[in-house]
Amino acid sequence: MDAAPDTEAVADESVVVIGGGFGGLSTACYLADAGADVTLLEKNEQLGGRASRLEADGFRFDMGPSWYLMPDVFERFFGHFDRSPEEYYTLTHLDPHYRVFWKDGDRVDVLPDMEHNRELFEAYEPGAGEALDAYLEEAERTYEIGMEHFVYEDRPRLRDYVDRDVMRYSWGLSLLGKMQGHVEGYFDHPKLQQLMQYTLVFLGGSPTNTPALYNLMSHVDFNMGVYYPDGGLGAVVDGIVELAEELGVEFVTDAEVTGIEGRYGAFAVDTVGGDRYLADVVVSNADYAHTERELLPERKRQYTEEYWESRTFAPSAFLLYLGVEGDVPELAHHTLVLPTRWDEHFAQIFDDPAWPDDPAYYLCVPSETDETVAPEGHSNLFALVPIAPGLEDTPELREEYRDLVLDDIAENTGTELRDRIVFEETFCVADFADRYNSYDGSALGLAHTLRQTSLFRPPHRSTAVKGLYFTGATTTPGIGVPMCLISGGLTAERIADTI
Ligand SMILES: Cc1cc2nc3c(=O)[nH]c(=O)nc-3n(C[C@H](O)[C@H](O)[C@H](O)COP(=O)(O)OP(=O)(O)OC[C@H]3O[C@@H](n4cnc5c(N)ncnc54)[C@H](O)[C@@H]3O)c2cc1C
Repeated sequence: MDAAPDTEAVADESVVVIGGGFGGLSTACYLADAGADVTLLEKNEQLGGRASRLEADGFRFDMGPSWYLMPDVFERFFGHFDRSPEEYYTLTHLDPHYRVFWKDGDRVDVLPDMEHNRELFEAYEPGAGEALDAYLEEAERTYEIGMEHFVYEDRPRLRDYVDRDVMRYSWGLSLLGKMQGHVEGYFDHPKLQQLMQYTLVFLGGSPTNTPALYNLMSHVDFNMGVYYPDGGLGAVVDGIVELAEELGVEFVTDAEVTGIEGRYGAFAVDTVGGDRYLADVVVSNADYAHTERELLPERKRQYTEEYWESRTFAPSAFLLYLGVEGDVPELAHHTLVLPTRWDEHFAQIFDDPAWPDDPAYYLCVPSETDETVAPEGHSNLFALVPIAPGLEDTPELREEYRDLVLDDIAENTGTELRDRIVFEETFCVADFADRYNSYDGSALGLAHTLRQTSLFRPPHRSTAVKGLYFTGATTTPGIGVPMCLISGGLTAERIADTI
């Protein structure tokens, strides 16, 4: 993708973008830059979608994403508009990248220092230091080929894959096997396998349902590094909103869309408040299934109920936002707490949905890096436990699970929080469904299983309504903030090519 929609094609088109997540914000920027007249309607009181912020009692929490990965994608995004990320926010390279506590008492830090990481791997298994280099070399190749030829290039049809240039990269075929088998080819030690696989949870998958081509994620975290935008991921939202405003995008918040009527050149988009917006083109960044099932009449949908029911949705999450008195020195900015065998947790997400008995979870303490996110003398902390989408979610279950998580944190990281909590809030399945209209309360959208990767994801362009397009995590390239930024560029290109 050169991410440069043909200016002539979209200039003077009026566009309504539904939803202010990263995909919607990105599409709005590309289209406004190309001369379109863009209005973005967001259901909630703030922009950013799943990257919303919760502010209370002097604490400021990123409610969703907290890992700033793939800095190259952000540079390319801002670069398209002759800007750079530094003009909008400041990045800190985290050191350590992250800490892992295993529940057998073992603990490691993964650092930007690769010599340290090699020695760490070697300590678990002779030869694993070299294997790490070989693994990361392959991951880097996958990243480079994958990004240029499959992620930045939209390939919506099977025949697009059969062109000679793409077939040259038959490297891909060996990576269509499962991640688990791929990692086992390099490392025997289960803990090393886990270190190479934990990023799959970012993609909403498990080692046994995600293709090995996502080994590229190890290049992302080991080689490219883990960053923190000062002020949190919300600062990135603010930066992109500022850019969008400079480009002329109009924003309307508290504007939940209730229906889309018409077609190219004559759309009417209705909102809860009774306002009606007219547009030539509509782009939905709202949850794909919600848009199809609830905003369009049946004859204008591309997918049936059975289609959505048969998909593998990414996990939902149990989130516990905590404002805590004092420090939490045992924890790094990013900390993972993992059972030594995590198959059971994955089974309770994908096979036999249940609240995980022995959870693998993530703790984020941005106040380790940024003193603006908590009042003086306090820590800002959230716990994120991936759980099955659609799981029963009641206040009693949350209360019970909150206790289990606090006990688990105390037992496995030595961090006793209970008597120091001054602010507390949970967010779970029902909130994802309510706040973001997310199908089954999934936190992330469609998982990246092989059958839901690339051209097998729902397309950017509706085949049922001319002039209606989609962007964001459920379409291509997929889940994650960088992917959604790219998705916005691909959607804008698709519009320019097809209207
Ligand atoms: C807990 C959590 C942790 C995560 N961690 C990371 C991470 O560390 N790093 C990373 O890169 N990614 C992470 N992700 C994934 C990343 O946040 C998402 O993939 C990405 O933000 C999704 O963007 P999107 O463009 O799909 O839009 P969304 O964020 O889904 O936004 C869609 C918007 O549409 C709005 N909307 C819905 N229905 C309507 C309607 N009818 N009318 C108007 N508006 C509507 C919603 O309110 C929402 O604002 C995380 C996600 C979650 C939930």
